[in-house]
Amino acid sequence: MRASQFFLPTLKETPAEAELISHQLLLRGGFIRRLASGLYTWLPLGLRVLRKVEGVVREEMERAGAQEVLMPVVQPAELWQESGRWELYGPELLRLKDRHQRDFCLGPTHEEVISDLARREIRSYRQLPLNLYQVQTKFRDEIRPRFGLMRAREFIMKDAYSFHIDQDSLRATYQEMYDAYRNIFTRLGLEFRAVDADTGAIGGKASHEFHVLADSGEDAIVHCSACDYAANQELARSRPLLDSSDPLLPAEQRATPGIRTVEDQAKVLGISPAQVVKSLLVFADDKPTLLLLRGDDELNLIKAARVLDADTLRLASAEETRELLGVPFGFLGPKDLPAPLPIVADQRVLVLRNFSTGANIGGQHWLHLNWERDLPRPQAADLRNVQVGDACPHCATGSLGIRRGIEVGHVFQLGTRYSEKLGVRVLNEAGKEQVVLMGCYGIGVSRIVAAAVEQNFDERGICWPATMAPFDVGIVAIQAKKSPTVLAAAEAMMARLEAKGLQVFLDDRDERPGVQFATMDLIGLPHRLVISEKTLAQNLWEYRGRRDSENHLISEAEVLSILQ
Ligand code: ATP
Ligand code: MG
Ligand code: MG
Ligand code: MG
Repeated sequence: MRASQFFLPTLKETPAEAELISHQLLLRGGFIRRLASGLYTWLPLGLRVLRKVEGVVREEMERAGAQEVLMPVVQPAELWQESGRWELYGPELLRLKDRHQRDFCLGPTHEEVISDLARREIRSYRQLPLNLYQVQTKFRDEIRPRFGLMRAREFIMKDAYSFHIDQDSLRATYQEMYDAYRNIFTRLGLEFRAVDADTGAIGGKASHEFHVLADSGEDAIVHCSACDYAANQELARSRPLLDSSDPLLPAEQRATPGIRTVEDQAKVLGISPAQVVKSLLVFADDKPTLLLLRGDDELNLIKAARVLDADTLRLASAEETRELLGVPFGFLGPKDLPAPLPIVADQRVLVLRNFSTGANIGGQHWLHLNWERDLPRPQAADLRNVQVGDACPHCATGSLGIRRGIEVGHVFQLGTRYSEKLGVRVLNEAGKEQVVLMGCYGIGVSRIVAAAVEQNFDERGICWPATMAPFDVGIVAIQAKKSPTVLAAAEAMMARLEAKGLQVFLDDRDERPGVQFATMDLIGLPHRLVISEKTLAQNLWEYRGRRDSENHLISEAEVLSILQ
């Protein structure tokens, strides 16, 4: 590719809106441009980087046995109503109507759509396990889009979904995906850590995140110096209580007059909000699995869940709850529940009573969550107060450190969270219908581009890891327009390198050498060759690796052996 014909709008000045170095350099280097808040156009150079990342991701997914599909971005509301997330996802879900006034959303993730596909197409355990993935645009109406590609509203994700007949099979695929993720981030040349994670709005039980370590990361990663223990501090952090303007709430519930908040109740009683919530929890056992609440208390339940460190709530109709519990409408509390509970013999129940009206449980809607499945596993209580140097809770020798991380991947064992709701069933070996288990596995493909820059830059610009670089080699032809012999030599070298399978960017522009060098450094190609009248006369090339501090004058043979 010749720079003279390439669309490369670089900027001299650092754009004022860009705080992070990655955002600054990606704008300055002509990789991306902003359209509106959280919306970016990929320019030719940026798109080449994105495609490189996608390429590595695809190769490792295929190697791990996943098959590529492509699902629609626009998703019908009905599916989200079935899963319960239409109500619960909150304003990050961009909802829209078609000309017939039917509700849709732009997919922030695809569990519902893939579950719908699976329930229609998979009949037998013989078709399992199955692992399908896509590389697709996602839309999340982030409350604070920022840092360019890092927290965009529209972004590219690789998401994979696996289906299984039993837990062993799910665990095996989860491990394969985990390993594939390690391969991907290793091949991309990133310094990363796999950590125990919160399951967030996706839900599920086991979950790991992959973090690129960088000072600008939004997450705090607690890690051990000796063993491989690492966790996202988010896991242990008590989330702040919601106020009635909290975006997590469905719009119609925000600031609804008449709902008394936990804070109000706490003020009335003179105790902390956390104590209020705890006092509302009537334990039927010390390890509850089900949390129930009347629909008009959604606000309080979400608050409760925040206190309890969970934001994955599912809405069940009164009917469903009655069916689950086998109790009559409007029962009064745990003492009225039949024992043992008819749901599953060994499940335990936690009842959150309606305190805003003083009445006991009853009504049209219930929220319930499965304690074991939907809440993060209990953590070492000290994780949230960890100080650097604390003893590791998992090994005798190590001490804890904290580093900042950028979440670039997240794998979950979902179990039956979606398959149950959406009825993804197959016939098992015994010929009986059985709900399948699912796993899901996300990678922030576009976020990786920004995260890589956070780890790989210097005062002159980006230093791309070799696998992600938009071109492998840059050739600077000095005064090419004035010297046909220099240009011819540069072109011959380009042809030779391309014949070896390398991607070459030839700067043949009519620019001052200083400008050419600055551009080459800014866009961060791993290798740079310079040819001028002077070097041509010596029959030598000036070579410099992007991270080198000095130039090397080498022969063409040496160039060809260095650049493989
Ligand atoms: P975060 O904690 O950063 O908001 P998340 O936990 O909400 O991310 P997941 O639902 O786990 O994200 O999605 C899978 C991956 O998609 C994330 O690990 C991340 O790399 C990427 N991702 C999520 N949100 C964004 C975004 N707004 N912009 C770019 N990439 C994103
Ligand atoms: Mg998020
Ligand atoms: Mg997260
Ligand atoms: Mg996540």
